[in-house]
Amino acid sequence: MDTHTNAEATPMPALFIGHGSPMNAIEDNPFSRSLIRLVRDLPRPRAVLVVSAHWRAHGTRVTGDASPRTIHDFGGFPQELYDIRYPAPGDPTLAQEIAGLVGGVTDSSWGFDHGAWAVIRRMYPEADVPMLELSLDADASPEQHFAIGRLLAPLRDRGVLIVGSGNIVHNLMAVRWEDDAEPYPWAIEFDAWVRDRLLAADADALIGYRSLGRVAQLAHPTDEHYLPLLYAAALRREGEQLAFFHEGIEMGSMSMRGVRIG
Ligand code: ZN
Repeated sequence: MDTHTNAEATPMPALFIGHGSPMNAIEDNPFSRSLIRLVRDLPRPRAVLVVSAHWRAHGTRVTGDASPRTIHDFGGFPQELYDIRYPAPGDPTLAQEIAGLVGGVTDSSWGFDHGAWAVIRRMYPEADVPMLELSLDADASPEQHFAIGRLLAPLRDRGVLIVGSGNIVHNLMAVRWEDDAEPYPWAIEFDAWVRDRLLAADADALIGYRSLGRVAQLAHPTDEHYLPLLYAAALRREGEQLAFFHEGIEMGSMSMRGVRIG
């Protein structure tokens, strides 16, 4: 580990990205432009670590390959998407270190799923920043996910850009396909609730989001797109700035809100 870089002086920001449709990997739209703007304002990281909604496993795993494969984990999209490879290198040494931090293991079977490459390719199109993924432990509670996020905090002082990739509202069964679909009232309500709890640094409420009942159940019939937010929230330090670099609800039931911490 290089301990002599300037990256130590200020912690690397941490992000939550609402990734939405895989088409965002190739479409020019306000969301993809928000990522391009965002990266111009970030220090250059030594590596990116993505906590992706699309990698659930038993235990916490870290991609350990030197050259992780690109995974096309979706169906029914144009061939152009399946042709994309994101050839960013991995970092097996850093992977070992991260696995040690969280009490997990490295994993050479996984690569980059679309929760990672579809968004990170907009930020680092040259694929010249090493990238790793962290799995969501399918057996962990929201409290435990938040605690794992806390354990990642030292990486921010070592130039690692940690990115939670999911969606603050994500209900595929309710998706409205017509152009300019109106957001559902429950989608607006849940997105605004999360926004306000983030601004208030109310970690307990964010962890206990299921206590909202029906609105939470509609926003997240399953929790894998919400949990990456807890990792980003866990990385916020006392008094640290929090801002939204993008917002909006697409297809009625998909919040594209993006969060920058630090
Ligand atoms: Zn997704």
